[in-house]
Amino acid sequence: MIIKDKIKLQEKCSPVSVKEGEEIGVRLLHELRESENGIGLAANQIGINKRVCVVNVKEPLVLINPKIVEKSKEQFVFPEGCLSFPDSKIKTQRHQDIVVEADNHKGRLSFSANSKDINDAFECVCVQHEIDHLDGITMFEREFKSEPLVRGVNAPKKIGRNEKVTITKGTESKVLKYKKAEPMLGDGWTLSI
Ligand SMILES: [Zn+2]
Repeated sequence: MIIKDKIKLQEKCSPVSVKEGEEIGVRLLHELRESENGIGLAANQIGINKRVCVVNVKEPLVLINPKIVEKSKEQFVFPEGCLSFPDSKIKTQRHQDIVVEADNHKGRLSFSANSKDINDAFECVCVQHEIDHLDGITMFEREFKSEPLVRGVNAPKKIGRNEKVTITKGTESKVLKYKKAEPMLGDGWTLSI
C-alpha cells in the first residue's frame, strides 16, 4: 500500500542500520515493480519511517542513509510525478549534478542530467526526489514557478533621470528632476507619483 497522505509524508525519516536498510530495500523494489510506472520509492511512502529509498531507472539502486554531499549551482526544469500523488504531474526545478553518499555504497555516486541520455536526467531527478521524501519534502515544494513573460501593470515604472517628479516630506513638497530627488529619498522625502 502506497501512502497518499501529504501530512504523513512530511515526517522526517530516521537513520537505519545497513542490515535493516537492505531488508527495507528489497520490499521497496518489490513494491516499485508492482507499481505501473514508478521509477523510485522511499520507505516512508510505504509507512516505514527509515532512511531508505530505491531508484530504478537504469538499474535497481538501493540507497541506505543517503546524503547529497555535493550539488551544482546549475538547475534545470523537469516534469515530475510521484506514486503518492498519481494524479499530479508538475514541473520542478532540480540540481543538474549531484554527488551522493550512502552507507551501503563504498564510493560516492555521481548523477548528472547533463547528458545526451534522457535516462541520466530521470535518474538524477529521481534520486533528488526520493532523498527529499526521506526529509519529509514532496515534489510540490520543488515546483518551478515560471516568471511572467509580460510585466504586470503593478510592475514599478522606470523613471528617467531627467523626468520631473514630486517629492514630499511632511507638508513640504518639491518638484524637481529625478536625478536631484533620488539622493534625498533616504532622508525623509518620499516620491509621490
Ligand atoms: Zn515521490
